[in-house]
Amino acid sequence: MREEELEISLKVVIVGNGAVGKSSMIQRFCKGTYTRDYKKTIGVDFLERQIEVDAEDVRLMLWDTAGQEEFDAITAAYYRGAHACVLAYSATDRDSFDAIPSWKLKVENECGEIPTVLVQNKMDLIDQCVIDPEEAERLGRALGCKLLRTSVKEDVGVVGVFRHLASRCLHEM
Ligand code: GDP
Repeated sequence: MREEELEISLKVVIVGNGAVGKSSMIQRFCKGTYTRDYKKTIGVDFLERQIEVDAEDVRLMLWDTAGQEEFDAITAAYYRGAHACVLAYSATDRDSFDAIPSWKLKVENECGEIPTVLVQNKMDLIDQCVIDPEEAERLGRALGCKLLRTSVKEDVGVVGVFRHLASRCLHEM
């Protein structure tokens, strides 16, 4: 087998309410950049980045909803073949936290049980945080997801989210 055929590719879907930082997270992880007024749509279906996880080369393809969540109409094509999922909410947006269980259900309906992580973004805005830490932990436990915290803006915790998911996927193979 040629070497590139051994490479593992994983499709990761990132769901959550609008403006929680999904596109920014994809841009940060795949391009290493952050822009405040980043257009919601990346303009392509996904961006990718290769990382080494547990001594394996893993290619992560991060799929952007391209704002479809605003219309509650994410297409089946978005979810098709997903290996892992990020459930994202913002520390400053209570509604986005409350919407997480319904996002989890949508993903489950389309993809079945796949490795999933709960991500609280915008941790740099800690003084505007409206989510009680214990409540967040409880939601993670209830959904069976690890809770991770990120600041996409300050590049804190982002790589860890995708390392965690890639590692989970590798262990399930
Ligand atoms: P999406 O609709 O979930 O894809 O969210 P976007 O990626 O478009 O982000 C919405 C807004 O939140 C943008 O103005 C981002 O710059 C901003 N944003 C994203 N991540 C962070 C973060 O970690 N901290 C702060 N302060 N703002 C963020």
